[in-house]
Amino acid sequence: MRCALISDIHGNHEALTAVLADIKQKGIKDIFCLGDTVGYGAEPAKCLAEIGGYTDQIIAGNHDHGAVGLLDLSSFNINARKAAEWTGKKLGAPEKDFLKKLPLHLKASIQGNEMLIVHSTPHKPEDWHYILSLDEAEYQFEKFTERLCFVGHSHQPVFWECDANGKCSIAGKEYVHLEKDRRYIINVGSVGQPRDGDPRATYAICDGERMEAAIRRVEYDIKSAQEKIIRAGLPARLAERLSTGI
Ligand code: ZN
Repeated sequence: MRCALISDIHGNHEALTAVLADIKQKGIKDIFCLGDTVGYGAEPAKCLAEIGGYTDQIIAGNHDHGAVGLLDLSSFNINARKAAEWTGKKLGAPEKDFLKKLPLHLKASIQGNEMLIVHSTPHKPEDWHYILSLDEAEYQFEKFTERLCFVGHSHQPVFWECDANGKCSIAGKEYVHLEKDRRYIINVGSVGQPRDGDPRATYAICDGERMEAAIRRVEYDIKSAQEKIIRAGLPARLAERLSTGI
């Protein structure tokens, strides 16, 4: 069994449709969406409708909460705040309701391996912290029991592993073979606003038979997504950064 894990679509419909086509082409039906479906990009409602047609395994991210008034926008930088306010005005009542009701985490399993799926961190996901260091990863490994934890939020794919003694390291950034005696926190990257220097839409595939997880990169029509951001009157920086993936 294989599943696809997609995160941080951020209203980028071009990137989302390219990723969904890639998933379909690979014959994968099980899709998890790790939050921040809206915010930054120009087509939040279209992205919600699109992903809703593929899966109901969707959780909330900080931008989803920011757009519907569940999160104080003073914690956002200026461009994120402007985009959240813009998104809030564009979404209708049913879409806002949908976002408000999304869970903060999901539990699932793949070939007997328990999976925890969360946008930010296993511990206190509602605080929206980032896992960016070995120390932070080590701390988070102590706070959940599942073998595999999938996260988004930083828009930077990375595979953290923890051995039987609780020692953590980075197992890779593109691919990992899931070793029997280890646990993993896997950041699946961002579909709609990659920030690791590769502008292609990014997501992850987990293969329970082969016991491996890998990052996928998909080309999409960046120019069209940028033009929509500019036409919508959103901050130009949000369009520009799609070219570089930074
Ligand atoms: Zn995000």
